[in-house]
Amino acid sequence: METLDLTRSASLIDHLVQLSGLRKRDDLLSGITRAMLETVAAQKIEIFGLVHDENRQFWLPLTKALPGENVLFVTDPMRGDPDMMTPLDSDANRHLCSSRMEVVETAPTASNADFVARFPMTVAEGATLWGVAEISLTHTLTAADRRDATRLLTMYGNILDMLDYSERDALTGLWNRKPFDDLFYKTLKPTIPQEIEQLPDGVEHRAANTPSNFWLAMVDIDHFKNVNDTYGHLIGDEVLILVARLLKTSFRAYDRVYRFGGEEFLVVLRSSDHDAAVSAVERFRANMAAYEFPQAGHITASVGVTEIVTGDSPAAACERADQAVYYAKHHGRNQVCSEADLVRRGLLKVDLKVGDIELF
Ligand code: GH3
Ligand code: MG
Ligand code: MG
Repeated sequence: METLDLTRSASLIDHLVQLSGLRKRDDLLSGITRAMLETVAAQKIEIFGLVHDENRQFWLPLTKALPGENVLFVTDPMRGDPDMMTPLDSDANRHLCSSRMEVVETAPTASNADFVARFPMTVAEGATLWGVAEISLTHTLTAADRRDATRLLTMYGNILDMLDYSERDALTGLWNRKPFDDLFYKTLKPTIPQEIEQLPDGVEHRAANTPSNFWLAMVDIDHFKNVNDTYGHLIGDEVLILVARLLKTSFRAYDRVYRFGGEEFLVVLRSSDHDAAVSAVERFRANMAAYEFPQAGHITASVGVTEIVTGDSPAAACERADQAVYYAKHHGRNQVCSEADLVRRGLLKVDLKVGDIELF
């Protein structure tokens, strides 16, 4: 029979209390990484996220920790290097853990002296898997290890579930407005910590005018009121759900899609240059125009695109994108308009703002 280990129980409770106080996703991820490592006295822990990109699934290394060291964020999901992603089936045991949604443990092999246990990570019980925690141990997983690690992961999932409840739109499952500002400011920072220039005064500085390589697209469904008026609100809601799905499948794993208002969506997309950003958005516009909605048939969208630049603010960037949408609406709809292009061609007045400063 298992004996009651008070020290172990006290440490587990400490970790649970700490986790329950965290509200930021990055802090939570770092917290669960450390809690798992310490609770099972592991040699190493790595957490991998499962990302979808163009209908394929990949592993993206998220965090890594060794005993006595800080938790390392291996990739920033916003700027993650696609080269770091490995295909779903590149690791047979991790793949098994994700498909069966159960702990998969392996004994030491010729190439790896450790026992390795992989735990599925889900948001709430029975929900789809979003990642796997891979733990290296000198011993085989004990019943107490398995039970405590599972408790920690359940608690972590429950907190994520609560966060989702407040940060996701109930109809489409997309992010709502709430997490948009946070993410927006994140795009302005060189987020990989090593890149932050630490000056002697202890203040973090970022190089002026560094292009962020992030773009904001504002999508507004054309004549959506007609859809509601002709087919009713329920069909209208179904169209919104399907547009959300088209947005998610048209953009890359690193791009973020938000439902901003009734029939308005925002996409924060990463792109090396203006033309590539515009063509990514154009691909979505074309996908949507070609899509046959059940009952409602063909429905189009007008899109405005603007670059997120140094010193920018969410309100200012949205206003620039909105002006481009306004232009698209008044010039035939079903098109993507770039704010920079319109300004360059003298079609949009240059009273545009960046951040809170009037530029012109
Ligand atoms: P435009 O091409 O100029 O954008 O025309 P529009 O009809 O799309 O624009 P308008 O802003 O006049 O209408 C937006 C409509 O979106 C009106 C509103 O009833 C509908 N709407 C907003 N939120 C929801 C929702 O959650 N469900 C449904 N079914 N309709 C919604
Ligand atoms: Mg609108
Ligand atoms: Mg509209």
